[in-house]
Amino acid sequence: MWLSVDPERCYGSGDCAYRVPSVFRVVDGFGAVVPGREDGGGDPKVREAVEGCPSQAITVTE
Ligand code: SF4
Repeated sequence: MWLSVDPERCYGSGDCAYRVPSVFRVVDGFGAVVPGREDGGGDPKVREAVEGCPSQAITVTE
């Protein structure tokens, strides 16, 4: 799993960081993957965060 956030789509709702703060955070008003946690850290909530992103800005590459 490789996570990335598309800044063109993200509008900074913060949902991802709220759901999985160990993997996502908000930087300068936009969602971002915590450096070094692009693999999702094995946290099952990552999938929920991806599916719950209101702008579908999070991409998962397997
Ligand atoms: S949940 Fe989606 S729109 Fe909200 S901050 Fe995260 S990536 Fe951006």
